[in-house]
Amino acid sequence: LYARQPIMAGNWKMNPSTEADALNLANGFVALLHEMEDTCAMDEVEGCTEVVLFPPFPFISKVKDVVGKAGIAVGSQQVYYEDKGAFTGSVSASMVKSVGCEYVLCGHSERRTLFSDDDVNINAKVKKTLEFGMKPILCIGETKEEFDLGITKEVCAMQVSKDLAGVSKEDMKNVVIAYEPVWAIGTGLVCDPESANKVHQFIRTVLERMYDKEVAENIRIQYGGSVTPESVDGLMAMSDIDGCLVGGASLFADKFARIVNFKQ
Ligand code: PEP
Repeated sequence: LYARQPIMAGNWKMNPSTEADALNLANGFVALLHEMEDTCAMDEVEGCTEVVLFPPFPFISKVKDVVGKAGIAVGSQQVYYEDKGAFTGSVSASMVKSVGCEYVLCGHSERRTLFSDDDVNINAKVKKTLEFGMKPILCIGETKEEFDLGITKEVCAMQVSKDLAGVSKEDMKNVVIAYEPVWAIGTGLVCDPESANKVHQFIRTVLERMYDKEVAENIRIQYGGSVTPESVDGLMAMSDIDGCLVGGASLFADKFARIVNFKQ
């Protein structure tokens, strides 16, 4: 009844340094996927894993040209919540949509901590993304301090309720959540699968309270935080982990190809 299509996303962050390197990475990744016999990363094949890459803005168009043919989507790491105007340095939802983005990362912890994104801004960005027919991947998760205080659930519940405030049940079909414990991002400290799964299940209970069981059971929830080829299979074996948001390992074509081809 509740068949959730797996979704694997690669967040390149502010890497690689040049367009040539970005296209090398994209080409290398696509070539490896074609080599893998059991690859299931082509989105036209039903039941397969959906794959999304998040390159830096200047590379989105050309990366899309490379990976689009292989059924891989591209997304934007960020958008501003205003439509247009005097916002030097910002990029709008319509801009990234027009160059082929299907997804937008909202609320990534690096945006929250380094660029002052708060729950009010993030909520506006989620809504703007949906307004322009794209799908937000809403990133939530507790910091190390919050983890040590034992308030993971409270933090996640608050982020989910504030960041999704006013999003309709209909629009929730296009929302993906990424549970990313901040202490696990870029640290090599992957959350153990059972603990992550429990948080994912808790997030579904929050969504059931906000919406209903249908929304809670249909929404896809990714885990993010130091996912590697070594840890992906154990994570994906969990009942409520529907995919991964991958930073560091997505910068290596071979590692990300293996992650996308996780073993069930
Ligand atoms: C991320 O940036 O969302 C992330 C999970 O990074 P990493 O895989 O490097 O921990």
